[in-house]
Amino acid sequence: MNILILGGGGREHALAWAVSQNPKCDKLIVAPGNAGIAQIATCATLNAEDPAAVVQFAEAEAIDLVIIGPEAPLAAGVADRLREAQIPVFGPNAAAARLEASKSFTKEICDAVGAPTAAYARFTDAEPAKAYIREQGAPIVVKADGLAAGKGVIVAMEVDEALAAIDDMFGGAFGAAGAEVVIEEFMTGEEASFFVLVDGEDVLPVGTAQDHKRVGEGDTGPNTGGMGAYSPAPIMDASVTDKALEEIVRPTMAEMARRGMPYSGVLYVGLMIEDGQPRLVEYNVRFGDPECQVLMLRLGAQALDLIQACAESRLSEVTVNWADDHAMTVVMAAEGYPGSYVKGTEIKGLDAIENDSMNVVFHAGTKAEGGKVLATGGRVLNVTARGESLQEARDRAYAMVDRVEWPEGFCRRDIGWRQLQR
Ligand code: ATP
Repeated sequence: MNILILGGGGREHALAWAVSQNPKCDKLIVAPGNAGIAQIATCATLNAEDPAAVVQFAEAEAIDLVIIGPEAPLAAGVADRLREAQIPVFGPNAAAARLEASKSFTKEICDAVGAPTAAYARFTDAEPAKAYIREQGAPIVVKADGLAAGKGVIVAMEVDEALAAIDDMFGGAFGAAGAEVVIEEFMTGEEASFFVLVDGEDVLPVGTAQDHKRVGEGDTGPNTGGMGAYSPAPIMDASVTDKALEEIVRPTMAEMARRGMPYSGVLYVGLMIEDGQPRLVEYNVRFGDPECQVLMLRLGAQALDLIQACAESRLSEVTVNWADDHAMTVVMAAEGYPGSYVKGTEIKGLDAIENDSMNVVFHAGTKAEGGKVLATGGRVLNVTARGESLQEARDRAYAMVDRVEWPEGFCRRDIGWRQLQR
């Protein structure tokens, strides 16, 4: 079959890697792709947020399945148009993508089905929002309603910080995304990510992960898109998983179908778990990045069968073939990230690093130029390994990190620390 993947980060490299392992895959195109993806697929130039352009491209290339990596094409309605053109697509329609694109929408759905989540209130004006914050006290969480690339959430430890966040948001710091603000109760516990495939009615769990968002070791310093992740998340035991499915995921999916916007694609369920009880932090309507990298290394070629079954509404016919293994990914970023960083530095040594079913360096922000691999982004490489234990996966991943010749790059040396100390 001919497959098109939209996106060009580490998540899409991991998806392309898993898909290309499957003998069913005849032709694989990734738009825009990157230097790592170019080694296993054809990279194409295409405006992935233009639904008509994507449909036209898919028809011209006789594509049998489109896999949408990032959220922006989903929110732009790319999946809607592909479905209208009867091209199988992995990813929800724009209406269902509101589970990520609008925090107040998700909260309202949680209310409707009684899903456990933080108590909240929503505001479109600063003064009542501030009065609410003063009444509730700190810590408290202030969120811009819309998509703000992970930056629209302020976990305020002091009332003043929360009040300042209100001024920023209604002052236009996040544009239209901040026209409405959701203020939430601060939840304590341990966070984990739970991934399920959904085809309207059926829900199939495809793995759990935990990531490290802060740039500094010991989980300190500014937030980033993620500096590393591991799978599975041990806190997601059978009981927590069952509660997350029965109390949160299934009721939400049933409500979406009841409202005429059935969900189809992968659902990323961000959870806060305390005393064995999961509560919803957020939904994302796509795989997490870098969590996708550890999930794909663990799933391998079967990922395509699962994704295809999801896109063709045949999820009830497939099961996941689990290996009792662990995977870890370590993000290598350009010096300075998440602040300003230099682009265009050369990365050497990649060809000499293992590349097999246990070890892969996924590219997140690279381009090939004149036979060289150049860093083009903040997060640049996702060094990913699998093992029988988390320790083994970790040791393999860092052994690979040490072979990457890139003086302008850095990584955290303590990914998985909390779990490895247990
Ligand atoms: P991202 O896209 O980076 O995941 P986002 O903008 O969608 O982020 P959320 O996931 O809702 O935002 O929040 C980001 C982080 O803030 C969470 O991972 C969590 O650590 C923290 N957080 C969010 N809501 C709460 C809450 N109610 N209580 C405690 N912490 C919270």
